[in-house]
Formats: sequence, C-alpha cells, structure tokens
Amino acid sequence: MKKVLIIEDEPKISRFLQLELEHEGYSAHTAQEGREGYKKASSGKYDIIILDLMLPNLSGIEICRRLRAENITTPIIMLTAKDDVSDKVTGLDVGADDYMTKPFAIEELLARMRVALKKQTGQASASILTAGKLTLDRNKYEVHYGNTPITLTKKEFELLSYLMLNKNIVLTREQIVDNIWGYEYTAETNVTDVYIRYLRSKIDEAFGTNFIRTVRGVGYQFKDE
Ligand code: CA
Repeated sequence: MKKVLIIEDEPKISRFLQLELEHEGYSAHTAQEGREGYKKASSGKYDIIILDLMLPNLSGIEICRRLRAENITTPIIMLTAKDDVSDKVTGLDVGADDYMTKPFAIEELLARMRVALKKQTGQASASILTAGKLTLDRNKYEVHYGNTPITLTKKEFELLSYLMLNKNIVLTREQIVDNIWGYEYTAETNVTDVYIRYLRSKIDEAFGTNFIRTVRGVGYQFKDE
C-alpha cells in the first residue's frame, strides 16, 4: 500500500483528501502545519507528498526546498490556492514534481499522483546503482569496486542494494529489517548490525572507503563519498 502524506492546514480539505485517498487504496497520513509536515516528510517513509503552499510556521516552498536539499526524492505535488504563476514556478524550481490549483477535481489529483509515482518507480528501479567506484547491478546480482568483483551473499546484496537506493538517507534498524527480512523478523533487529558488519568488512575495510555510517541511536546511512 502506497503511503501518502498530506500537509494541509485547512481541516476540510485535509479530511476530504484523506478520505478520498484512502478510498483509492492509499494509506493517508496528515500534518496540519509546516513544521510537523516537514518533520514527517523528512523521515523519507512516504511514497508521495501532497503539499499545500500556504502553511503556518513553515511554507510549502520552504519544506520542499529543505527536503530536496537533504536528497529526499519523494514525489511532491503542491497545492496552491491562488492561480499565481510565480508560485507554481517557484514550487517547481525548488523541486516539486507537479502542482494543482485549488479548487481541483480529485480525479485530476489522482491522475497526477499516478504519474509522479510511476516516474519515481522508474528511477528507483534503475538496475545499476553507483557510489564513487562502487557499482551494484541489480539485474546481474553483481557488485564491483572499480574492476574488482565483490562476492556477497543474497542478504548482503539485498541490504547493500537497499542502502544504496536510499543513499544519504538515515535508515532505522526497524526500516532495514522490515525491508530485507520482513515484518515477522522484527524481534531480531540486531540482525542488521551483524549484516552491516559483514558489508563493512567486504567493502569499507577491504577498499579503505567509508560508505556505511553508523548514526548513533538511530541506525545506518549509506554516504556517497
Ligand atoms: Ca493553506
């Protein structure tokens, strides 16, 4: 189920969107003001964000700018109350994927969401992931550092692939376990630490790199050096 975050301070519109999107099969979450919206969005756990432009505490433009600066690539569709060309242009300039002018037909929003999600999936499913001299080919199940092949087990490969897909984003142990081992495994979150150690010894220690970082009290982050 796709997770959507609705950042909108008008309760009526927020509630309407939540109901409609849940009806369409999305898992819809809301934030009523800018700071809360930014905090939730920066977790990186949503598939798409509906972002109102005019918000208390932090504007939609500022939220969008900050998220993109943090390399959070979640598709963003902006909502603007005014039919103001400069707002739309600014929104797209700071990295929004699309915009809608209020009032809008829900069908049109749904269509634009599908387009934005498809575009995102296309990027996420890119078969070759790279970071510095490290390359991972998801179709061939191969990892190389420069020309040197690295032999990984299936789980190590999946973990590295997940980390590289979420490059520069801090992932919690729970997120990692859920994605690699599935929900039934959540009791054993230290399985992540064990596998991270394997990857470090085969990559960072073997090649003197520092891709896999520990974020104290949170989890791990794959950093593009
Ligand atoms: Ca508003």
